[in-house]
Amino acid sequence: MGTSVSVDGQITAFPLLRGQKALVTGANSGIGKATAIGLGRMGADVVVNYVADRDAAEKVVQEIESLGVRAYAHEADVSSEDQVVGMVSRMVEELGTIDILVANAGLQRDAPLTDMTVDQWHKVLDVNLTGQFLCAREAAKEFLRRGVVPEVSSSAGKIICMSSVHQIIPWAGHVNYAASKGGVLMLMQTLAQELAPHRIRVNAVAPGAIRTPINRSAWDTPEAEASLLSLIPYRRVGEPEDIARAVAVLASDLLDYVVGSTLYVDGGMTLFPGFATGG
Ligand code: NAP
Repeated sequence: MGTSVSVDGQITAFPLLRGQKALVTGANSGIGKATAIGLGRMGADVVVNYVADRDAAEKVVQEIESLGVRAYAHEADVSSEDQVVGMVSRMVEELGTIDILVANAGLQRDAPLTDMTVDQWHKVLDVNLTGQFLCAREAAKEFLRRGVVPEVSSSAGKIICMSSVHQIIPWAGHVNYAASKGGVLMLMQTLAQELAPHRIRVNAVAPGAIRTPINRSAWDTPEAEASLLSLIPYRRVGEPEDIARAVAVLASDLLDYVVGSTLYVDGGMTLFPGFATGG
C-alpha cells in the first residue's frame, strides 16, 4: 500500500492511517478542513472540532463519512479547559481512543503595537498557544494510558502543532500572532522531548501563505497576490491541501523517526527571498 497524489493535489487513496482516530481542531474551515478530509482519505476516523460555524462543520463531517470512515462534529473553544477536557473524553467514549491530534485552531487580531489592546493580545495567545497546550495535554493523557498498539501504529500517539513561518519570521503589526507561533515552536519541542520516551511523537507543520479566510486580504486582489508572490520563491500561493498532505504523512508511520521537527510547507518563504539578488 502506498499514497498517491492526483494532479489536482488531492490525496487519493491508501489507508496509511487505517483504524486510527484523529482530532483536528478548527476543522470547519481552511487548513483544518482540508486536513480533516485528508486524514479521512487516509483511513482515519475524524473528530471535526469547530467553535462557531456548525453548518460548515457538518458539511465536513458528511464529506469525511462519504469516504467510508466515521466522523462527527464537536463544538468546543480550544482556549477553555473544561471544553477541551470534555471534547477529548467524549472522543475516547465514542471512538475508543485518540491516536492523532492536529492542534490547528488559530486566529489573528492584528494591530500596530501602539493600538493593540490587551484583549487582542490575550485572545490570540489564548487560542493559538494555550489552546494547543490544553489539547496536547488531554491527548497525551490518553496516549500514556493506552500505550503502543502495534497493529495500529508504531507510536503511542502523534501530536502535530499547526505553527507558521512566523514562528521564526518576525511580523510587524502582528506581534500577538508572531509571539503565539514563536511559543508554539518551544511548546512543540519541549513536549517532544518530554513525551518521546513514551513513544509519543510531537512535531509541527509551519505553513507559509496558504489561501484561506484567515489571510484573504493578502491574496484576493491581483495586486495583493503579486506582492505576496514576491515573498515566495516557488511563486505560487499555497493551498490547504498542501498542508493536509504534509500533516497526513507526518502523522503516519512512514515518518516514525521524526520527532520534534518542524516541517516548513511554505514554497521557500523561509529562504530569505530578499537575498536572492541582494546581500
Ligand atoms: P481559518 O480558515 O480562519 O480557520 C481557523 C479555524 O480555527 C476555524 O475553523 C475556526 O473555527 C477555528 N477557531 C478559531 N478560534 C477557535 C477556538 N477558540 N476554538 C476552536 N476553534 C477555533 O484559518 P486557517 O488559515 O485555516 O488557519 C488554520 C491554522 O493555520 C491556524 O493555526 C493558523 O495560524 C495557521 N496558519 C495559517 C496560514 C495561512 O496562510 N492560512 C499560515 C500559517 C499558519 P470557526 O470557523 O468555527 O470560528
